[in-house]
Amino acid sequence: MENKSKPPMTAEQRRFEELMTYFVNNTSPNVDFLKAPDPPIPAGECRYCLKVDDHITQLCPYKYDVPKNAILGKGCSVQCVVCGCRFRDSCCAQCGHTRGRAILMDCRICGKSYDHWPDMCPQRDLNSSFTCDPYTGYISF
Ligand SMILES: [Zn+2]
Ligand SMILES: [Zn+2]
Ligand SMILES: [Zn+2]
Repeated sequence: MENKSKPPMTAEQRRFEELMTYFVNNTSPNVDFLKAPDPPIPAGECRYCLKVDDHITQLCPYKYDVPKNAILGKGCSVQCVVCGCRFRDSCCAQCGHTRGRAILMDCRICGKSYDHWPDMCPQRDLNSSFTCDPYTGYISF
């Protein structure tokens, strides 16, 4: 005759409690990866006009009007306010106007910003049967 006093849940409960204690004691110091923030955006130089500590890139007046012979950041190019074509040297390649606005270059082919246009992308399709004039957008076969 066995008087088997079945141990109830206590063993499992104890294991569970041990486990919880373990987690509580071992997880708290392990948060170093949360402490590394993104590097702060370097305050200062405007990507359009290269002025330092004057305004942020998004507020640059060159976005609306680029003065003649202005020095622009290499990541942007000038677009004619009249016809929207890109400037070649200091005036519009299409209509000859000298009023332009700066736009930041953005390549949708390789995803690189402030470096080149898709038509100058090293990853563009060189076997394409037509070429697109980067200044006027004129497509020639
Ligand atoms: Zn600026
Ligand atoms: Zn134009
Ligand atoms: Zn590209």
